[in-house]
Amino acid sequence: MHVHRVAHVGDDDLHVPVERLVVQRDAAHPGEDGSLKRAVVLLAVGLVAGCSSPAGSVATRGVDVTLSAPPPPVIEPRATDDDAGARHAEEQHATGEPALPPACPREPPLELESPPWASNDALLGMVADPSKRVGSASIGRAARGALYGGVELAESEGIVHAGGYAWGTANSVRALERAVRQVRACFPDTPRLFVGDLSREHGGWLGPHASHQAGLDADVGYFYVGPPLWYQRATAKNLDVPRTRLVLKTLIEGGNVEMIFIDRSVQNLLRRQPNEPTSDDLLDETWFEGPLRREAIIRHAWGHATHFHVRFKDPDATALGERLVQLLPAAHPLRRVFPGTAKR
Ligand SMILES: [Zn+2]
Repeated sequence: MHVHRVAHVGDDDLHVPVERLVVQRDAAHPGEDGSLKRAVVLLAVGLVAGCSSPAGSVATRGVDVTLSAPPPPVIEPRATDDDAGARHAEEQHATGEPALPPACPREPPLELESPPWASNDALLGMVADPSKRVGSASIGRAARGALYGGVELAESEGIVHAGGYAWGTANSVRALERAVRQVRACFPDTPRLFVGDLSREHGGWLGPHASHQAGLDADVGYFYVGPPLWYQRATAKNLDVPRTRLVLKTLIEGGNVEMIFIDRSVQNLLRRQPNEPTSDDLLDETWFEGPLRREAIIRHAWGHATHFHVRFKDPDATALGERLVQLLPAAHPLRRVFPGTAKR
């Protein structure tokens, strides 16, 4: 059993109670509506070094090669790996992007799904039509909320469910999948990563968690040395530091993480060690909480030595959730039900 700290102290006073929200089970599936607006958020630059094609070597036939001496060779500047690295470094310097080891292919930036803009009537029509993909809506708050149009995190070669519910907003799920892909691209033979609860398909209470209600929370295992484990205390002996660092780094640099809960003992294993040289593999020290960084991304919370908890931020899904809540009384498939009371 573990308990999760709530994101914002004192935000229990919802403007609109949504914990009893009932959502019809016809949420459409992602990616079926080509009209979806997609905002490509360039959070990272890929390696854009120019590929220098080898000098053309076209064989000439039937040419009298005795007519003249061969022309002097034309020496064209060719892009070298050093050049590419320098350009990449310049771009990174210009954009403030951190570097990854050059041998490690970088995952493309997250393509964040943005729900389509629509008038209220159009939005209600889309919600009422199961064939329409409205987009993910995170309704209410993590500790008192619901999820509409969520996406289920699938098991894959890199991800194994630890049991539980694996629904989240599309952007949250994509970010998790991307981070695991990045680790597997950099480290061959990476074991599958256990992922615990996200949210129920339509969100709502999910014990024993306090949060996990609105599609923005996920419990994720650490990478361990040896076979994959779930819910094992991470220690200096069993924690796979490089892989765990990279999955966290990729999540954070993906740009849609609000915070990550990690037990302080595990934070100390993941931080730069006293004699460890500086490298791009390290996590940014400012990401960790400290006396002057209480609002840092990586924070201590009791119960998170066996897994970490990531709270995503998904402003578009939250905005759509707010709109749906406002429209709920008129929305056919979405209705607010407050058992035992006639209040609406
Ligand atoms: Zn959790």
